Amino acid sequence: MTATLEPGRMLIGGRWVEAANAGTFPVTDPATGRVLATVADADTADALLALDAAVDAAAGWAATPARTRAEILRRAFDLIMDRQDDYARLISAEMGKPGAEAQGEVAYGAEFLRWYSEEACRIAGRVQPDPEGRGTVVVTPRPVGPCLLITPWNFPLAMATRKIGPALAAGCTMVVKPAEATPLTTLALADLLTEAGLPAGVVNVITTTRAQPVVAALLEDPRLRKISFTGSTTVGRSLIAQAGQHVLRTSMELGGNAPFLVFDDADLDAAVEGAMTAKFRNTGQACTAANRFLVHHSVAAEFTRRVAERVEALRLGPASDPESSMGPLIDDRAVRGVDALVQDAVARGAQVVTGGTPTPGPGSFYPPTVLTEVDPASSLVRREIFGPVLAITPFQTDAEALTLANDTEYGLAAYVFTRDMARIQTLMGGLQVGMVGINTGLISNAAAPFGGLKQSGNGKEGGIEGVSEYLSSTYTLIAS
Ligand code: ADP
Repeated sequence: MTATLEPGRMLIGGRWVEAANAGTFPVTDPATGRVLATVADADTADALLALDAAVDAAAGWAATPARTRAEILRRAFDLIMDRQDDYARLISAEMGKPGAEAQGEVAYGAEFLRWYSEEACRIAGRVQPDPEGRGTVVVTPRPVGPCLLITPWNFPLAMATRKIGPALAAGCTMVVKPAEATPLTTLALADLLTEAGLPAGVVNVITTTRAQPVVAALLEDPRLRKISFTGSTTVGRSLIAQAGQHVLRTSMELGGNAPFLVFDDADLDAAVEGAMTAKFRNTGQACTAANRFLVHHSVAAEFTRRVAERVEALRLGPASDPESSMGPLIDDRAVRGVDALVQDAVARGAQVVTGGTPTPGPGSFYPPTVLTEVDPASSLVRREIFGPVLAITPFQTDAEALTLANDTEYGLAAYVFTRDMARIQTLMGGLQVGMVGINTGLISNAAAPFGGLKQSGNGKEGGIEGVSEYLSSTYTLIAS
């Protein structure tokens, strides 16, 4: 991680360079406000240089044997795992999550490099006879071309590897734009990919505080062929519209509003354990985070009591304190946002079981909070909370639970706790989401297709599906 400690530089065309205007911006620790490093503040001119580099490297990388691409990815996986403590510390420092969660992210994030090292050599086309007997149909996969990959701050390593891994496997070159709050992990990853043998210009990283104009300039350039974005639905909508001008391929991992259903036959121990993971992992800052707890009225009181007991045992604090089990939110604005959602729910009749008031500074902390009797019209039921607030609404019947679960424009994830197989089958078909956890609060998995329905986005990351986001195909008819 040496180059990343060099202040104010980003990776373009294999060189660590300053922004053309020499601008920089600070990266801070959200638990303390301490400045960790300064990084380059790219402008549109820098972004276009990064695209030049990706375009120049495109033909060479596409022609590189899949086995070579696979071996670079595998070496990168090994290098991250050799340095997993360093990566975990870096993630904790710039993002705030406790050490154990950061270690979890390193293992999860690195796995995308290993998985796609394995997939790289399995990319195949197809040969089939023309049904009319005119000849042979040959379908040949090809890399989609230079990509723009935009990542959020909540999983600084994993959100990058799950785009970069399949893009590299497919033979694409790219410009990566990490979130302004957490660029350091991406810079370290780019450095490591170079060490693993990646040729110059294949992965370029631009760091910037001017996301909107910088990204717009790239989207206006017809040489860019694909955008993959993880972030809010609001920004995603605008990027989809901008991507229309040059008819780009898009992969969009947008917001979620996951229901967490607890039925009367659920194993409550498992449901409480699942709730703690689905709600409080990453301080609730995950698009898959459970947002609405729909609990059968007959077990609602018991579930609430048990979950509140666990929540009160959580220890809020900086990652530097090994006793911390929950970290800060990303910044003070996020604290104000979560507080406003809780106040709105309380004004509509929700009862505060525990938490409910922002923690005084330093650091952007909000306490883990449990609310009951939450009115479905409350803002936190309609919107993504992105914070540690567990909001419970009781239900009476299965039909009511399913209607409430689907009553959102989002469709990313859902969690279900029940032991009834017939009910599980009904819900697997009935829930309008891209991912379902049955009796588990953790569904992310490099081997499985992560992605949403409805306004949670399009495209998949992970699994055999993930690489196809970076592939096009050409079909050839050879006359007989
Ligand atoms: P979040 O609310 O999780 O920060 P955002 O959608 O705001 O999600 O940010 C996700 C990523 O999108 C970040 O890398 C951010 O810099 C970038 N981004 C934010 N606004 C824009 C925009 N208008 N155009 C392009 N990228 C943007």
